[in-house]
Amino acid sequence: MRLSQTFIKTLREAPKDETAVNGALLTRAGYIHKEMAGVYDFLPLGLRVLENIKNIIREELNKIGSEEVLMSALQNPELWERTGRFSDQEVDIWFKTELSAGGVLGLAPTHEEPMVNMVKKYVSSYKDLPFAVYQFQNKFRNELRAKSGILRGREFLMKDLYSFHTSEEDLDRFYAEVEGAYERIFERVGLGDCTYETFASGGIFSKFSHEYQTILPVGEDTIYYNDDYSLVLNKEVFNDEVLAEFGADKSGFAETTGAEVGNIFKLMFKYSEPLGLKFTDEDNATQTVYMGCYGIGVSRLMGVIAEKYADDKGLIWPETVAPFKYYLVGIGEKGLARAEEVYRGREEEILFDDRDARVGEKFADSELMGIPYRVVISDKTLESDSAEVTGRLTGQTSLVKLAELFK
Ligand code: ATP
Ligand code: MG
Repeated sequence: MRLSQTFIKTLREAPKDETAVNGALLTRAGYIHKEMAGVYDFLPLGLRVLENIKNIIREELNKIGSEEVLMSALQNPELWERTGRFSDQEVDIWFKTELSAGGVLGLAPTHEEPMVNMVKKYVSSYKDLPFAVYQFQNKFRNELRAKSGILRGREFLMKDLYSFHTSEEDLDRFYAEVEGAYERIFERVGLGDCTYETFASGGIFSKFSHEYQTILPVGEDTIYYNDDYSLVLNKEVFNDEVLAEFGADKSGFAETTGAEVGNIFKLMFKYSEPLGLKFTDEDNATQTVYMGCYGIGVSRLMGVIAEKYADDKGLIWPETVAPFKYYLVGIGEKGLARAEEVYRGREEEILFDDRDARVGEKFADSELMGIPYRVVISDKTLESDSAEVTGRLTGQTSLVKLAELFK
């Protein structure tokens, strides 16, 4: 991508109404645009980051045999009335909208009900099970507070996965596979060493659910961890009774704040029962389908990565999610001509700052945007047939032969 040709511009100042670091930096660097509180647009750079994160999640979920779909955002109240979840008393974050012909629709805050209803058409026998379905979809939630940038949106991108089984053992098997996939996902996006599987309350059928919490000063959740982080619990379950089950007590724990980037639930029959998702087993008896559900807040995850790695100069993207790997600057007539050559054929990897601007401004923007490597080609570096490469994370600069540049 050529910076001279994109419509986005970096901003000197953070917008006044943006108090969250992730929101301010992502806005200044031209990744997102704020429509209103809790509602953001993703610009070309931001969309590339989002797509990179999605692709990592997609790869890991496909590896464990899940299939991707895309469900509707508009929801039929009748379906949700069957589980009691259309009422504003039960679920207080609905956005509801009126049909011009009369009647109300909801904008999906999550998808258990429509997912169960949809797969019902395709499940009748034990031979149809197990399977798992996921999507990347914009969810709508009328959150009371939305001051955390893209960490808490009123419209936000979620990955939601649902699995369907003939037995609790098979549900447990898949649950463990998702735990493995999640570990790899958080590792690959650069949060492996600060994201922990955390015990949370489980609801009706199982004792615990799990959250994935990234330790973050601005995280909205309070979590408790032991010495080596081998046991992490959220506030709801941090009590003497639960700790006794793990042979622990409160003394061994410290408190910190986390951002919930994902969670996994053993739903069992919570939705399959009221919505009538049944199968006939090998003995021809009718049984209820066992279910699990597994979420990741994709846009929140992007905000968490932004917060986690930022410094006083701007964003710092891990290579795996960065919109571009290289930020290319040519200085002087020969340097510029050579940069053009280097750019050709690598438009997907290189953000080429070919603008008519001062070098200092280009360097500042490369730092603000957080591109992993800045590559500078000047008349001087060309004397040794080299480019000067600076790592955004390390700040270290080295001369690299042009022939070796992308090796
Ligand atoms: P939270 O406690 O943060 O409100 P939640 O328990 O409501 O989260 P789920 O309904 O399980 O979350 O949604 C799955 C995932 O979606 C969460 O783990 C989180 O990462 C993300 N998420 C939830 N609400 C939001 C939001 N308003 N904006 C951005 N991401 C969100
Ligand atoms: Mg919530």
